[in-house]
Amino acid sequence: MSNRSSESDRPEPTPPHRTDELEAACLHAGSSFEFSGHPSTPPIVPTAVWECESPAQADAMLSGEQPGYVYQRDRHPNADWLADRIRDLHQAPFAAITSSGMAALAAILLAHARSGDRLAISNQLYGRSTLLMQQEAARLGMSPLVVDLFDSKARKSVWKKQPKLVLVETIANPRLRVADLSGLAQEAHDAGALLVVDNTFATPLVCQPLALGADVVYESLSKLMNGHGDLMLGAIASTQAAADRIASTISTWGLASSPFDCWLAQRGIGTLGLRVERACETALQLAVLASKHPAIRSVDYPGLAAHPDHELAKRLFLNGQSQVRFGHVVTLHLRSGASGANQLIREAKDFPFCPSLGELRTTLSHPASTSHRSLTSEARGELGIDEGTIRVSLGIEPTAWVVDRWNQVLDSLDRGEDTR
Ligand SMILES: *Cc1c(COP(=O)(O)O)cnc(C)c1O
Repeated sequence: MSNRSSESDRPEPTPPHRTDELEAACLHAGSSFEFSGHPSTPPIVPTAVWECESPAQADAMLSGEQPGYVYQRDRHPNADWLADRIRDLHQAPFAAITSSGMAALAAILLAHARSGDRLAISNQLYGRSTLLMQQEAARLGMSPLVVDLFDSKARKSVWKKQPKLVLVETIANPRLRVADLSGLAQEAHDAGALLVVDNTFATPLVCQPLALGADVVYESLSKLMNGHGDLMLGAIASTQAAADRIASTISTWGLASSPFDCWLAQRGIGTLGLRVERACETALQLAVLASKHPAIRSVDYPGLAAHPDHELAKRLFLNGQSQVRFGHVVTLHLRSGASGANQLIREAKDFPFCPSLGELRTTLSHPASTSHRSLTSEARGELGIDEGTIRVSLGIEPTAWVVDRWNQVLDSLDRGEDTR
């Protein structure tokens, strides 16, 4: 009785206004969202958070006991789909995606080293990698040791200092030295260190460092891997033993990727095989052409017999293929120094001066004023870089067209004085 009377006392609920319904409807994804089957092109899933069925299910997913997504920074489908591809390309048990190549290196460092650890880093690294591993790591209490990893004596003395990890690039910028990854892996493991390899210049289609004994490999997807110059991402692949902590470090330090960028990268990587084949073929032809040209003092390209690492590159990069590829970057040293470099950049109208690499188009870089500008000119000299050093990243234009244009560009250069 009392119930009834209290019910009748309640004010009539006002029916929801039609606009409320429409506005609420705007927030529903729609019934077709839960599609079944496999769309041939994966969708972009930009959701920041996922709905959970119950506290127990949320707990199980967050602890990793049950598969499923909760929060984008921890995991999201586009990163997982892209990581699957990276895993396959490196034949690795583990892969993860980060917001940039630098985020990949940061995640590896933070996951594997701590205050007090020594780090052995190659003296030929991407500029920001040197900054991260030297200045930033030192601020965190680690002790970075810069080593010429191409020198066996220097290597021997660094192993005595028991570094926690060793960082090297498969093909180092801009002299394109090739690291003896199998030898380094052996020595690093004997010394109790992890071998970490930056494989950005090579890509897994030229070299697979994990198969040669490395513990962790990473690539900037911003370069040749995606290849379209329209995103920034990094990828990490590792052995099972070295995978520990990497995924949680990516989320905890906020180094995670964006779904849209992952979706674009997955599309870009679809054509990696075609792009690498074309760019490496054109690179070899440019290297051969330039090495015979009177305006050029010397050419760095691991595919040339004169390169110090040619035999090593042949051995490391063969990987069961019928033809070895030596990468898509060629470095030219002009006889006419700074004036030659300016002249070349003016003349090479088809090849823009973009201080990056791995674009669809062939691009030029000038290490002395860009990637290596923070070094003194003596330090650059020790690495074999001067004002007349030009790095060429080959694109996917027809090989014959590129070779023809380079012939014209090189012919237009002064060849008389050698300014060195
Ligand atoms: C570009 C580059 C990086 C850094 O990658 P980002 O995606 O730009 O952060 C690291 N190593 C090498 C060799 C690179 O060329």
